Amino acid sequence: MTRKLNFHAGPSTLPVEVLEELQKNMVDFQGTGLSLIEESHRSGNYEAVHNAAVALFRELLSVPDSYDILFLGGGATLQFAMIPMNFLPQGKTAEYVATGTWSKKAIDDAKKLGSVRVVFDGKESGYTTLPDPASMKVDPEAAYLHITANETIGGLEWKGWPETGGVPLVCDMSSDILSRPVPVEKFSLIYAGAQKNLGPAGTTVVLLRKDMLDRIPDTLPAYLNYKNHAANNSLYNTPPVFAIWTIKLVLEHMKKNGGLAAVAERNLKKAGLVYGVIDSSGGFFRSPVDARYRSNMNLVFRLPTEELEKKFIDEAKAAGMIGLKGHRSVGGCRASLYNAMTLGGAETLAAFMKEFAAKNA
Ligand SMILES: *Cc1c(COP(=O)(O)O)cnc(C)c1O
Repeated sequence: MTRKLNFHAGPSTLPVEVLEELQKNMVDFQGTGLSLIEESHRSGNYEAVHNAAVALFRELLSVPDSYDILFLGGGATLQFAMIPMNFLPQGKTAEYVATGTWSKKAIDDAKKLGSVRVVFDGKESGYTTLPDPASMKVDPEAAYLHITANETIGGLEWKGWPETGGVPLVCDMSSDILSRPVPVEKFSLIYAGAQKNLGPAGTTVVLLRKDMLDRIPDTLPAYLNYKNHAANNSLYNTPPVFAIWTIKLVLEHMKKNGGLAAVAERNLKKAGLVYGVIDSSGGFFRSPVDARYRSNMNLVFRLPTEELEKKFIDEAKAAGMIGLKGHRSVGGCRASLYNAMTLGGAETLAAFMKEFAAKNA
């Protein structure tokens, strides 16, 4: 079998070694005579996997002990609602930074639940730039400040973090979690849907500073209250066991291959290869994004015409490279170079782009 080079934005490519390990254990998990996804989530076999996933996550991202690491259902999208339900009380205002599709979805949900102030809106630039974190001012009375670390569709990524002076900083890291080191202690809550950089769809990782739990109202339904998940090690109800099992294998694979520092270095190299071709193409390829904030995970680019974009996507597909079409809302092309995309994969794409430009310029 020849595996495709998968540049899809999510669900996305996973390390082949992880898929093989799943396959090997799918029917008979480590000689137990049944699959892990047939087991009780209260069984020792599952609990060992669950706890290993939490511990590996803590180790790889250097998450302090003062944070809970939760695996929840509902996708990152459920967090858009859970965050204001838990942390935006009446009489308070939450501040949001609008940088593209995902932050706007978070804002829309929060507005249904409480008072929201949008402190930056990238609308004028067509969502191609970010606010300078150093010049951001946060209202000391704000319930929290919400940002989106990486706009998966627009291809914009924060490279530094705002100082909030004690106001909780909440961040959607769905599409760049564990792609680079982040100072977790600057954030009160970080969340990330798994299917971009961590594993299959089905779970969302939430890092929550423990003292935040005291702010949560008791009126929330059980599943929507972070306290219930934190008090039960994410086993309040049946967790997404298959997704968590896979994440555990992805994190083991990451640790074996040098951990976060090695991953981050490789990600820079991969993105540098593709941006290098874009920047040296004499304008054939064009990045629409403010160069200071170009994403190293989702590389968005245009060709001179839509016809050429279609031809590029078709010819790439014929050469085994899929998922290069931009999101339907913005058009153009997008290459997602998540952790599991190999350096060789990025090299193949870069070489293909260079050749395509030479032939079609
Ligand atoms: C994909 C994505 C989401 C939505 O994730 P779901 O798990 O599909 O709910 C939210 N935010 C960002 C930044 C994303 O990339």
